[in-house]
Amino acid sequence: MERETKILKEKILRLKEEKDVLILAHFYANSEVQDIADKVGDSFKLAKDAQNAKNKIICFCGVNFMGESAKLLNPDKKILIPDIEAGCPMADMVNLDDLDGIKERYDDVAIVSYINTKADVKSRSDVCVTSSNAMKIVSALPNKNIYFLPDKNLGSYIANQIEDKNFIFHEGYCKYHNFVEHEEVEDLKNRYGYDVLVHPECTSQVVELGDCVGSTKALLDYVGRTKKKGYIVCTEEGILYQMNKLSPDSEFIIPSSMKPCEDMKKNSLENLYRVLVDEGPEIILDESLMERASRPLKKMMEMS
Ligand code: SF4
Repeated sequence: MERETKILKEKILRLKEEKDVLILAHFYANSEVQDIADKVGDSFKLAKDAQNAKNKIICFCGVNFMGESAKLLNPDKKILIPDIEAGCPMADMVNLDDLDGIKERYDDVAIVSYINTKADVKSRSDVCVTSSNAMKIVSALPNKNIYFLPDKNLGSYIANQIEDKNFIFHEGYCKYHNFVEHEEVEDLKNRYGYDVLVHPECTSQVVELGDCVGSTKALLDYVGRTKKKGYIVCTEEGILYQMNKLSPDSEFIIPSSMKPCEDMKKNSLENLYRVLVDEGPEIILDESLMERASRPLKKMMEMS
């Protein structure tokens, strides 16, 4: 098995060179995929990497909306995704109808979309945010009303820190982070005495227990800085690969109520190899949609 994996990795690396491909992988992807990628990061860093890429092809090992964002930020590149079925259930919770009438119902309102949205939703948004830049961007907006979608948890987390704006939330959530049980986290904290690391897609009860709350990048930075005996990690398990590298002597505990993201796990070495051979599936977006959907993303990049 090890030998087969080694051969597969060599084939991927050869194809990558031959076809001039940049492989990007999210922190939640499988460790062997992170291992072979040129760049690994959170949504914001990977969006920047995609925007600045000079390679002919970008292969995005993440979920669909990430591939779409890469296409919107660097439209001349061919964007491949190992499994076109890898979506984000949170992004799927928004219907375009949800945005109907928002601008009429609230005066001086900005529609702020978490990057975890499809291109058509982005096309009707004023600005996009990620968990690493949401505070900065929303604080800087001149509008008094903020319609935040889809993640009600991330939205509340930001709203609690910005007093001079009125927030209206969409009711979306991450079907994994939202179900981390605060009772379990509290119990683990009492039992082990470890610091609790929380992604703000978790509920406010879990956020309250966090010694560090932030994007995957912020959580990793915290581990790199503190290198403690152990941590209770309230985010997707793929992050442990990088946490272990940063602090190999620490113990990392994921609550049993934090389940792995099935869509992120659809990225494997096998389908990464296949997509490089076939140069497909490719992200294809309608020209006029691209024009409209890229605006809020570019605004995010400027405001970050
Ligand atoms: S972890 Fe949650 S928000 Fe992230 S891709 Fe999976 S379902 Fe979407």
